[in-house]
Parts: sequence; structure tokens; C-alpha cells
Amino acid sequence: MGPSTPHRTTSHSRGAHMPSKKIAFIGLGIMGRPMAANLVKAGHQVTGYNRSRPAVDALVEAGGRAADSVADAVRGAEVVITMLPADPEVTEVVTGEDGVLAHAAEGTLLIDMSTITPQTSLAVQETAAPRGVRTLDAPVSGGEAGAVEGVLSIMVGGDAEDVAEARPVLEALGTTIVHVGPHGAGQTVKAANQLIVASNIQALAEAVVFLERSGVDLASALDVLGGGLAGSTVLNRKRANILNRDFKPGFRIDLHHKDMGIVTDAARAVGAPLPVGALVAQLVASARSNGDGGLDHSALLRGVQRLAGTDEK
Ligand code: NAD
Repeated sequence: MGPSTPHRTTSHSRGAHMPSKKIAFIGLGIMGRPMAANLVKAGHQVTGYNRSRPAVDALVEAGGRAADSVADAVRGAEVVITMLPADPEVTEVVTGEDGVLAHAAEGTLLIDMSTITPQTSLAVQETAAPRGVRTLDAPVSGGEAGAVEGVLSIMVGGDAEDVAEARPVLEALGTTIVHVGPHGAGQTVKAANQLIVASNIQALAEAVVFLERSGVDLASALDVLGGGLAGSTVLNRKRANILNRDFKPGFRIDLHHKDMGIVTDAARAVGAPLPVGALVAQLVASARSNGDGGLDHSALLRGVQRLAGTDEK
């Protein structure tokens, strides 16, 4: 859909009155692919690049344009969005020899939406600033479903005027967009988010094994738990995974392992104790060691089953 096409009556019409932007989108995985498609729906000109080609072809089918390299994607872009797995990929794609900063025009706004360490976000900002490229760290929460539905929570670190400029673009991706502080603060809040989510899933998984071993009907139990103080977005979003023992990702345990490392490091740096978080980090690591790294993080349930000696269904 081109920028002048008037078909903007979907839930993604929030940014419709805003001028269309030329956006380079790098990293079209589980999250990046639907996010880039939502930007197209909101009327932006989106050029996508991904290490493997099928993801780029999917964006073209959704109305975006294909790029063969980072340089190709970034050429002519006003906004560059990165949605990559972890720190090494962001560092390489942004500051590498043939990366975003080598090709972006002065004045470009770079929005990194990956979950990485606050330190790497700051390093990216320090490398970008002398080249006239403004940066924001804008990691997200809400999972694949949140990305598909365009209802992500987006925690943004950076300068207020850049956040204001980014807001119409981010509104095509999420419904809760909060400027939480200076560069790196978005990643700090995301680290806290990941601590809460992993601890929540672990507690839910322990409750599930306890309920099943007690002979209580799990679906009924989750119904009533969901309506009380134990209810949570985790319970709503992961209920089907748990009931069906369907652990297709979603959010891979490998990525949550990375995030538990980020939050434990960041907390140690400021002297904040995370006793439950440290334990949950070990359980996430154990899930990986048992071969579950590629599964959705709701598969922490499998780890509790192993501890309980329960046959996996
Ligand atoms: P993913 O692995 O599905 O996607 C990452 C994409 O980046 C892949 O398509 C990969 O081919 C591409 N890529 C890797 N290196 C590249 C390079 N050098 N150049 C170009 N492309 C490259 O991961 P995801 O689940 O989409 O997560 C992306 C980020 O968002 C991670 O930091 C993750 O922690 C975070 N996140 C994920 C979720 C979720 O539910 N999946 C939710 C919130 C945040």
C-alpha cells in the first residue's frame, strides 16, 4: 500500500494522519516480520533486510520493498529500525564496517528495538552521535501476538525530541509507548520486564505441575486463577501453550537466557539484589542445557516436570 492509498481503516490507522516515512527495517524474524508489515499497513515506505532471504520475500508480499544488504536498506531512509537477536548482531549491523552508520545520512533516526544490554545501547549512541545519527533504544514487550496485533508495549530511552519524532512510527507497532529516560533506560526497563516475565512463567509452571499431580482439572483451575490476583498477561497469553503442551516459539528460551544474563549483570552493577531472579536464571539455563533452548519460554514447564519426575506429555 503506497503512502497516498486511503485504505487505512484498520486498527493500524493510528498513524494514518502522519506523513509517511521512509523506513529501513533490519531483522525480520518472529517479531520484526509482523512489525514491518504493520508499518506498511500504516502507510510507511518500508525497505526490509534480513540475513536469510525468505523473511525479506514475506515483507515484499506484505507490500514492503526488498534490500540485499544493510547499505541497500539504509539508503534514503529517514528512520532505521533494527530488531535483531542480541548485542553482537546489533553491534555488527550498526557499527560494523558495512553497517548502518557507514551508510546512514546525517539526521537519520536509528531506533533499536532489539533487547540488548544498556551498555551496548550507550556504545551505539556514542558511535552514532558524531556522525549525526540520532538513536533511541526502544525494546518491546508483548510477544509475537503483540507484534502481530500491533499492541506492543514499547519502553523508549533517548532524547525527548527524538522520542516525539519516533512516536507516530511506534504507534503503528504498539499501544503503550513510554519515554522512560535517557539512552539505555529503555533497555533497563526491558531487563526488569524479562525478570518479571520469567519469574511469572516459572511460578505458573510450578503451579501447573502441583495442580496436575493433585488431580485437579487444569483448565478449570486456570479459569478461576485467571480471574483473581494470580491472573496475568502471562497466564492469558501462555494458557494454550500450557494446556496443549505446544511450545512452538513465541519467545525462545535461548533469548530469555540472554535476557536473564542482561538483568543479573545490570542489577549487580547497581547493587540491586535479585534472589528469585538469580534462581530463575539458573532454571532458564538448565532448560537450555536440556535441549529446550529453541522452544517457547512457556517450556519452563518441562523443566518443572523434569524436577518432579513427571512424564512429559
Ligand atoms: P528472531 O531470531 O526470530 O529474529 C531475528 C532476525 O534477525 C532473524 O530473522 C535473523 O535472520 C536476523 N538477523 C540476525 N543477524 C542478522 C544480521 N547480521 N543481519 C540481518 N539480519 C540478521 O528473534 P525475535 O524473536 O524476532 O527477537 C528479536 C529481538 O526482540 C530479540 O532481541 C528478542 O529478545 C526481542 N524480543 C522478542 C520477543 C518475542 O516474543 N519473540 C518479544 C519481545 C522482544
